[in-house]
Amino acid sequence: AMFGGQRKQEEAHPQRYQGKESACFKLTETCLLLLHRGDITKWTVDGHTDAIVNAANERLLGGGGVDGAIHRAAGPDLLKACRQFPKVSRGIRCPVGSARITRGFNLPVSRIIHTVGPVYDMEEDPESKLADAYRSSLNITRENEVKYIAFPAISCGIYGYPYEEAAAVSLTTVRDSIKDLKEVHFVLFEMPAWEAWLEKANELFEQI
Ligand code: ADP
Repeated sequence: AMFGGQRKQEEAHPQRYQGKESACFKLTETCLLLLHRGDITKWTVDGHTDAIVNAANERLLGGGGVDGAIHRAAGPDLLKACRQFPKVSRGIRCPVGSARITRGFNLPVSRIIHTVGPVYDMEEDPESKLADAYRSSLNITRENEVKYIAFPAISCGIYGYPYEEAAAVSLTTVRDSIKDLKEVHFVLFEMPAWEAWLEKANELFEQI
């Protein structure tokens, strides 16, 4: 009986990636939400069916922040793969709110989903653009057999989106858009991001 109880506990709290801190919530009846404080380039759940999301820019040629960290960890083949995407207009390979998918190359995950969030002060309706970036990322998982996904705090760095607002948009959008995923993860790098997501998740969901 003890052993049975122990196993149940492990299923409820998947421990395959441990951030400096982690928390688990019931996102929907069938899907768990896992929050971690840490580095998304280190995240993996199952190297055949998992993906991390990159907060890229429209050119898709790398940049600072999490984009730079992902390109460094994935290696130069990632840039080559990104260059293969056709430009939809001048220099733009991935418009704000849309997403593209590549292999993971030297990362432990099988796929990288590149999406572009809004620059907070430049968009008339940053909230709908940020929601689009989350929805596009989730949509692309369906066509690519991705079963586990980890998001960073899209737009919250160089693009200036306030953490509290971004946490609300991301968590409600993900809750309302997941279809067959069993787990959605967020890997928050900075303490204020981790705190904002944790607070919002506690407000919206049951912690388990
Ligand atoms: P954006 O241009 O969309 O604002 P940034 O990369 O500047 O993207 O920032 C997005 C978020 O990613 C920020 O909260 C930043 O602290 C975080 N970040 C930076 N490096 C990493 C990393 N290695 N893993 C996870 N998150 C990261």
